[in-house]
Parts: sequence; C-alpha cells; structure tokens
Amino acid sequence: MTENPAPVSLPEPTTARPAPGELTFRAPRRGKPPRHLADFAPAERKEVVESLGHQGFRAKQLSTHYFERLVDNPEQMTDLPKAVRSDLVRDLLPTLLTPIVRRQADDGQTMKYAWRLHDGAIVESVLMRYPNRVTICISSQAGCGMNCPFCATGQAGLTRNMSTAEIVEQVVWAARALRTGELAGGEDADREHPLRVSNVVFMGMGEALANYSAAIGAIRRLTDPAPDGLGMSARGITMSTVGLVPGIDKLAAEGIPVTLALSLHAPDDELRDELVPINTRWKVDEAIDAAYRYYRATGRRVSIEYALIRDINDQGWRADLLAQKLNRRGRGWVHINPIPLNPTPGSKWTASRPGVEQNFVERLRAHGIPTTIRDTRGQDIDGACGQLAAATA
Ligand code: SAH
Repeated sequence: MTENPAPVSLPEPTTARPAPGELTFRAPRRGKPPRHLADFAPAERKEVVESLGHQGFRAKQLSTHYFERLVDNPEQMTDLPKAVRSDLVRDLLPTLLTPIVRRQADDGQTMKYAWRLHDGAIVESVLMRYPNRVTICISSQAGCGMNCPFCATGQAGLTRNMSTAEIVEQVVWAARALRTGELAGGEDADREHPLRVSNVVFMGMGEALANYSAAIGAIRRLTDPAPDGLGMSARGITMSTVGLVPGIDKLAAEGIPVTLALSLHAPDDELRDELVPINTRWKVDEAIDAAYRYYRATGRRVSIEYALIRDINDQGWRADLLAQKLNRRGRGWVHINPIPLNPTPGSKWTASRPGVEQNFVERLRAHGIPTTIRDTRGQDIDGACGQLAAATA
C-alpha cells in the first residue's frame, strides 16, 4: 500500500469501452472469486464447514471471529485447535481484497482505497468521517454497465460483478481499521470508544441492482445480528440505482428497510435518455412510480439524486417539473439531494453556477420538497461521486 502511488498497471476490461447510450447487463465471465464465509447465509455455514471435514459448531466460532471480532488472522483464534484454524482460514477466509493505494483528503477525514481483487480487477471504496457518523461508499461491480456519460466509472465499461463477500469485505476492512484506531484520527483517537461504521452507501463503482443476488446477500450480511453478520441498522444503508425498476420492486419485497436513492438527474425523458441511458428502458415516470412503491412498501423516505450540470439540467423549469412529478404521487415521501457535478476526465460538462444551484434548490423547496445539497468529499483525490475509475488510482 502506498500513500503516494506510482501508476498501477491495470487489467484490460473484458468489454470494450461502451458506445454512447449502450447498456451492458451481463457481466463478462471471469474466474470466480474464492469462496468466503461471507458468501454464505448463516443457515448454510454449518453444512459448508462439515463438508470440509470439520465439526458443525466451528461455523459459529468462525462467524464470531469474522463478523463480531473482525478477526481473520488464525493466530488470534485461540479457541480453535491450530490445525483447524489454518484449514478454516485457508478455505473460508481467503484474502479477497488487497489494498494497493490509500489516498487522503479533507484533512484525513476522507480516505479512498483502491483494492486489487483476486483476478487483478480493481475497485475502490471511500471512507468518510463526519462528526456523528462514519460512512463508507462501497463498490458492487468492477466498472459499470450503465454508461452514464458524466460518470467516470460508467465510461470505462463493466469488467465484472463482485461477489457478496467482496462487497462485505470493504465494510469489514473499514470496521477493523476504525476499531484498531488506524483511522481514528491520530492524536484525538479515543481508544475507549472507537469509531464504528454507521452508514454504508452503494454509491461506489457499479450498479448494485444489476448484480442483485450478490448485493442483497451483502445487505443481509451487514444487517444480520452478530455473530451471523455485522449487526448494522438497515436504516444506515443506502442502495443507489439508475432506476432498474424490477430491481427496485424486488428490493422492496425483501423486508429490509434500507434507504433507496434514485439517480434521476432529469425530470423529462428527452434529457434523461441522454444522461442516464437506462431511461430508454424505464422512463422517468416509471422510475418515480417504482420509487414511490418502494416508499409505500418500506416506509423509508426515498432520496432523489440530481447532479447539477451547468446549462444542461439546471433550469428553473426543470426544478418545477421535477417537484410537480414528485408531488403528484404524494407528500412527505421523498427528498432531493442535488449535488454539484464533479468533473471527470474527457467530459465537457461542469457544475452549475452557484446562483443557479441556489435557485434550483429554492424552487424545489418552494414546492414543499425537502432539499439538501449533498456534501461532496474527496474531489482532489478523484474519490468523489462519479470520479471512481481505477485508472486514477
Ligand atoms: N449506479 C448507482 C451508484 C453509482 S454512483 C447509481 O447510479 O445510482 C452514486 C451517485 O453519484 C449516483 O447518483 C450518480 O449518478 C452520481 N454521480 C455519478 N457521476 C457523478 C459526477 N460526475 N458528479 C456528481 N455525481 C455523480
């Protein structure tokens, strides 16, 4: 791991860069990541452990080490006989993420990590410390097939889906680093009350709902009570999507009230077809209807993400149209998170002017819609929304 990274040699994505508007749903087939304890639901673990020739109760012991104690080092598993430990760790706790780059921004409050996966694919996570919470922004795919033209990840195409355990490991890794004080901020580190990861957002690389089973597996591992999982609150987890309508409905039926964020970016089909190419499959109204159904099913207020792009989607009439479309479904079910566009290489677009941004926000509020500009972190380390692309690691 290096603080001042040298250029990293990158694997070629198995897909070519997508043509404008082209969508990729099927991840190219590559070698499967090694299987890992976190790939299995609690009820399956006993059988897996037995099939490896161990006694079934070892499954619980191993889960306690990994999910509760955050331990994957056999030396620290003193309740297990030595031979059992090394076998179990080899077979069920293989190394999935190798940190290759760590970069700091915002006075050390933001950290971006680039990880190498077993097959050389590279993904990134961003850890952000706030006064009362710690948020990790995680990846669910290496690359992304959704091809939004303003997003660096989308421009590079889809390399592959991540496994459940690869998704979970990003959070475990961060939780462990916080617990040991590694990231607790040097002198002001409080060893008695180490920081915990309170929020997880699926806003790193990838469209998680296009990798549905791995993503829902990860959500279950994060929310299952310890020692079966990390015991996080579903309320602290945000699933962000371009608007894959069937995926939103499926998620609503899971009975886990995570927060849904819909990346809308335009209230009209003409513009959204260009900005978010999935709109050619599911239109603005269909995406908003699905978001509303999600709210009805879970009681969780939905977030609408709206990257403000200068002279493209930041006109007052678009704010009015957006508010009208949301209010038509009901009141109090949604809030809007505009975010100034973060610059990405090769894109001609830039953030709206501050006055225009303010006007857009005020118009939305005037329609009674709670609106908060999203704080953007990590811009100078290419760690901000839409800037994650392994090439910059
Ligand atoms: N595939 C998911 C998660 C990806 S990124 C989704 O699209 O929702 C998380 C958020 O960052 C999305 O709302 C995305 O539209 C937004 N985003 C992408 N590129 C951006 C950029 N250059 N500036 C600001 N936000 C961006």
